Amino acid sequence: MSAFSTLTASALPFDKPGKFYRGNLHGHTTNSDGVWSTDEYIRQYRQNGYDFVAITDHFMKRFDYPITDTRQYRDEHFTTLLGAELHHGDVQLGGVWHILAVGLPIDFAPYDENETTADVIKRALDANAFVAVPHPNGNSLTIEDFMSVAPVHAVECFNGKSNASADRGYSGHYIDTLCRMGQRIGILAVDDLHKLDGLNDFMSGWVHVKAPELTPTALLDALKAGHYYASTGAQLHSVEMIDHEKLVVECSPAQKIIVGTNRQGVMRENGHHLTHAEFDISKTTSPYLRVTVIDQYGRRAWTNPIWLD
Ligand SMILES: [Zn+2]
Ligand SMILES: [Zn+2]
Repeated sequence: MSAFSTLTASALPFDKPGKFYRGNLHGHTTNSDGVWSTDEYIRQYRQNGYDFVAITDHFMKRFDYPITDTRQYRDEHFTTLLGAELHHGDVQLGGVWHILAVGLPIDFAPYDENETTADVIKRALDANAFVAVPHPNGNSLTIEDFMSVAPVHAVECFNGKSNASADRGYSGHYIDTLCRMGQRIGILAVDDLHKLDGLNDFMSGWVHVKAPELTPTALLDALKAGHYYASTGAQLHSVEMIDHEKLVVECSPAQKIIVGTNRQGVMRENGHHLTHAEFDISKTTSPYLRVTVIDQYGRRAWTNPIWLD
């Protein structure tokens, strides 16, 4: 298998063996600029029904390049992935890069002065990490920024901290533009938990990863294979493509089930307590489709883009 999933219909998670495990892939502790200690962080997520977390403290000199060690919190009911938010080099409109890396080794080395941002990402990928571009809206990332570091595995569609602190949580526009440019990226929703100033970033966005077992290796493999979907509260039970003619969606009660394409027009079902929709996709000219479900509270679930080749 290549390092990146092709994200075709065969990468959809729903028919894969195992269970869906709920996790937050992005958050900070007192090892960088978060408010919760590692102990408190793990306790809160565990108590609130999560199956795993990745703590991703800011991998910066001023925090002494932390890779927060959460290995002692792993057991048969809960697990962790090691990770960090990498910061090296500047983005086009100013400010340092933020790169989410999950599945890093505990001894990931600090940056070398001669490295570019893309070099650091390559080093993280070579070390087996799942790499994503976080909060494009929050950081005003340009498309040129993304192209300068591609390929990576995923982009955040929702970031809880950007949402709670600046109303810049959603990055759907960035993702649609990248898809139209042919970039095969997964879609994440995350808390980016800081708990600064009582901000409501806890339990605001997460992923459901389908994996054969609750272990760091199985979760990381499933993430890289695209076997997951992102959520801010709505749930997807099944998304199935039948003979490239029909797309069938089963979900938690929703007001809108949307199938996005590379054009302005979308296919959509509106109603109350919708839990099932079928879409005729036989005539679509879009090279990809992506499913968004929105419930009566505005909570969403997103599939990864489904490439039709
Ligand atoms: Zn960040
Ligand atoms: Zn962060």
